[in-house]
Amino acid sequence: MWRSLEQALKHFFGYESFRPRQRQIIEEALSNRDLLIIMPTGGGKSLCFQLPALLKSGLTVVVSPLIALMQDQVDALRDNGIGATYINSSLNWQEVRSRQGDILAGKIKLLYVAPERLVADRFREFLDKVASVVGISAFAIDEAHCVSEWGHDFRPEYRQMIQLRERYPQVPAIALTATATKRVQQDIIQQLGLKQPSVHIASFNRPNLYYEVFPKESRSYNQLLKFIRAEKGNAGIVYCLSRRSVDEIAYKLGKDNIKALPYHAGMSDSARMSHQNRFLRDDVQVMVATIAFGMGINKPDVRFVIHYDLPTNLERYYQESGRAGRDGEAAKCILFYSTGDIKRIDYFIEQKTDANEQRISRQQLRQVIDYAEGLDCRRNILVSYFGERFKDNCNNCDNCLDPKPIEDWTIEAQKFLSCVARCRERFGTRHIIDVLRGSKKKKIEQYGHHLLSTYNIGRDKTADEWKMLARSLVHQGLVKETTDGYPILKLNKRSWEILRKQRQVNIAVNKKSTSGVVGDSNASEIEMLFDRLRELRKQIADSQSVPPYVIFADSSLKLMAQLKPQTLDDFAKVSGVGAYKLKHYGDRFVSEIRAFCCEQQLPVPLPSASKMTTLQFHQQGLTVEEIAAERNLNVRTINDHLSELIEMNQPVALERLVLPVRQELILKAIKIVGGESLKTIRENLGENYTYEEIKLVRAWWRRTRS
Ligand code: ADP
Ligand code: ZN
Repeated sequence: MWRSLEQALKHFFGYESFRPRQRQIIEEALSNRDLLIIMPTGGGKSLCFQLPALLKSGLTVVVSPLIALMQDQVDALRDNGIGATYINSSLNWQEVRSRQGDILAGKIKLLYVAPERLVADRFREFLDKVASVVGISAFAIDEAHCVSEWGHDFRPEYRQMIQLRERYPQVPAIALTATATKRVQQDIIQQLGLKQPSVHIASFNRPNLYYEVFPKESRSYNQLLKFIRAEKGNAGIVYCLSRRSVDEIAYKLGKDNIKALPYHAGMSDSARMSHQNRFLRDDVQVMVATIAFGMGINKPDVRFVIHYDLPTNLERYYQESGRAGRDGEAAKCILFYSTGDIKRIDYFIEQKTDANEQRISRQQLRQVIDYAEGLDCRRNILVSYFGERFKDNCNNCDNCLDPKPIEDWTIEAQKFLSCVARCRERFGTRHIIDVLRGSKKKKIEQYGHHLLSTYNIGRDKTADEWKMLARSLVHQGLVKETTDGYPILKLNKRSWEILRKQRQVNIAVNKKSTSGVVGDSNASEIEMLFDRLRELRKQIADSQSVPPYVIFADSSLKLMAQLKPQTLDDFAKVSGVGAYKLKHYGDRFVSEIRAFCCEQQLPVPLPSASKMTTLQFHQQGLTVEEIAAERNLNVRTINDHLSELIEMNQPVALERLVLPVRQELILKAIKIVGGESLKTIRENLGENYTYEEIKLVRAWWRRTRS
């Protein structure tokens, strides 16, 4: 019925290819062998019994210990149009009845049950009926380590499985687990009565592959050509994102005397076939291709796979780069990386209409960026994506061969993880960093996180440094990040060991970013501020029911992000800020910019020389009038100087300028009518307050607020 297992995989689950071991396992399951499968969590165990269940006749009974997981799996299967159901204690007897009816009517291929069901007499009777009416195709025992007292989750009910095995000796069993020591493995085999099982300990590590990331230069084609020339005729694949660049690169390589051919979905079937055959026969050295190429191709001696553009997710990167070195000989997996690529993928994501899909794609893109920018062993990053841990340096990737300095960041890791714990494991990296760095964002206050003991304990590190730590913790498996599009940090066993001071944390440190050298970090800082100003603009726009560009154009926001004006005077100089906008929005934007600079520990601009002179006289005890006379300026100018000095957090003694009782009343008025307009404040206060004193107090209010 199916031309190939791949076709069935695509049909039922929508996946393009199998992960390591899956294919072989499934073939063995189809030939009714007993199996023991050890694969990291997230590695793709379920498929190993689900696909065979669909391809065989009869019902596969899946034993699973957790009711919640059971429901998730069944939901996911039904979502793919697959007949699956569960029977457990959450159902009443009518529901159980009706599900049993469906099973006996042959509508169901996979039945999930809790282990305690297996022993119930009534369930046994039911299974007998199933065996005679539709047949039992297999028993799949998930979390099989629960059968062993040597494991960490011993479930005595699992021991009853053996009775079922004896009752239906011809039905094969598939035992699956993520964690199994030798001892537990033996126990599983024995306790479940597996007969000459085929044991698969799946690893995602491909030791013969070398991984490297090339920062893409502006003349990246020359980099590519140089690399391929150095390969001296070895066969390789170059993956590009678009058909156009495939054609272009293939053409250019040809002109540079490299035998290369294009391959993409825009070509005729016959042209594709012929190009593929010529590559398989080594008539051409290089296949330049979109992702359309490679499915089902099994050329064993591909010596390099280059991704000339950023792949859209790590799963894909793993599969595509994995086409190198199938023969087990050394081969290279090269990724060309530039931040410009991110924008292009972002654009594609932007086009998606389903919000959830968009979120997931964004997270996947971030994982690719983390791989490309990561300082940890690349192999480690890749296998950790599949839940596997790879302890030591691999000595076969660029990061291991040319390691960045390693530093002990245990204390920082403790701060970070304890903040994750205090935020109750419900937030992502960005939020945790905001809390650590004492951000004034609304979201933080909304959750009351400004009251946590970890609030503001991380000012000594920049946001980028915390990000670097977070990334490394995830890559080293020291904290877990959820992958459903809402990246939330969850503590695992190892996180707690760190918190209990039982484990040290070493991370590779990129000196360039930690010393805050201008360049990259400067660019990202502008971007960060730009994002925040855009958020603020959106809030204001929403509150007035107008489109955001009505408030300020993007170009103005960009200038603000670059210039970072921290006083209204400087803000007024930004192109696009007129008198009206200065009056209505200046205040909020300047506060936001100031808060940002403060969080990022950016230098505060110094007052001008003239203002500094005013400050000196003020500190010597002169009154405003005396300073004005001394400097031959008018009183208003001196007052303006002092207001600005206050805003810039300079040591001005406000109590000498405005009586404390008057300050209090002015503040009260500002709280009632807002700080935008001096005139409105004065109207609220009455005639016997001067604009000067209002302005001075407002300056103080502004400073304390940001
Ligand atoms: P496990 O049971 O080993 O923890 P799962 O079976 O839940 O892992 O699989 C983890 C994830 O990998 C799931 O989202 C699953 O859909 C996905 N997956 C499994 N096999 C493949 C494959 N061949 N290609 C792409 N994704 C896969
Ligand atoms: Zn490595």
